[in-house]
Amino acid sequence: MKKIVKQDQDVIKQHNKLMILDIIKNKRPISRAEITKITRMSATSIGRFVSELCEEGVIRETELTSSGVGRKAIMLDIEPGALYTIGVDIEKKRISFGIMDFSETIVAHHRVEHKALAGTPAETAALICQEIRGMIARQGIPFEKVIGIGIGVPGVINYERGVVQLSSTLGWKDVAFAELIEKELGIKTVIDNDLKVKILSEYLYGSAKGSNKTALIGIGTGIGSALIINGEVFRGGSNSAGELGHTTLDPNGNLCECGKRGCLQTYIDENALILEARRVKEVTDVREVFAAARNGERWAKEIVSRTALYIGITINNIVCMYNPDTVILSGDLVENYREIVELVEEHSDQVIWEPFKGKFRVIPSELRGEAIVMGAGALAMQHFAPLSGSWSGE
Ligand SMILES: [Zn+2]
Repeated sequence: MKKIVKQDQDVIKQHNKLMILDIIKNKRPISRAEITKITRMSATSIGRFVSELCEEGVIRETELTSSGVGRKAIMLDIEPGALYTIGVDIEKKRISFGIMDFSETIVAHHRVEHKALAGTPAETAALICQEIRGMIARQGIPFEKVIGIGIGVPGVINYERGVVQLSSTLGWKDVAFAELIEKELGIKTVIDNDLKVKILSEYLYGSAKGSNKTALIGIGTGIGSALIINGEVFRGGSNSAGELGHTTLDPNGNLCECGKRGCLQTYIDENALILEARRVKEVTDVREVFAAARNGERWAKEIVSRTALYIGITINNIVCMYNPDTVILSGDLVENYREIVELVEEHSDQVIWEPFKGKFRVIPSELRGEAIVMGAGALAMQHFAPLSGSWSGE
């Protein structure tokens, strides 16, 4: 009986200690007195937990001049090098990596070319593991300090099981990808849909900071969206909420890769632009279409303008459904061709339903190419860092 009570006390102690670590991480630098105030625990308990965390090397003392009287005060901060996560962004033709330290700063970047469609998922996993090993070694980070890997993958992802259910971008179906990485490296791994990772990143570090309800639309080789409400990514029943690309705009429209007709992505993704352009001129990529539009060629200007119109319609649909305060436009198409964002704004008066006009802002992604790497690192931090997660700020 006594033993059980002792175990319960240990659990509570551990929980309190991790809560204090959460507070230090979120409010750093912070003094012991402020922590005492927030937690309403005794100064003695706080002192004891803080010394333990210092001894474990996860936090450190820094000397700061406190505001007002100019007195030096000992403040507490986390130790950035206490632990690391790796963020990975798998795209069709390249894989980007970042090492994130405990202060959530990316301390090393790396990028490799790959051809997912030409190889197997196991080959991609092997490449990722090899590159991660190389990065950790180059940075001189002790391998055991890397506590987790987060990976953003385009497609339908079973986030809880670590399985890529379907990725038409990569040509994968039912691939237990997280397991492939974990087995090879012995580091815990979490995978998620790329846009869900991206919106987490924009919420934590980018243009959606401070927003209560943000929708993100990704426009590139396919179309997708994601929603974050009070810091929590909205997942839907099977983590597929936001698969916007296959919402039907016209049942008699163009044939989509999914076999249906008139899906949204057959109007606004990069392929749609290229197909539309080819009715007039033989082009190989969207760059040529935008170059022609910038050059004042009418056919190209019409295609770009039509794309902007459909993006506007998409924003209206999203806003009618979710009523977000912020809509982030992201993806290669809007990130590489900013003029399209201006055109979307021009169309907005025409396509946004009256009650929502002026009630939300449309902004381009702030983090651009870095967003998924950072979000994936943060996702791994949320999953695997020894934090209680019970203190989420005030
Ligand atoms: Zn479709």
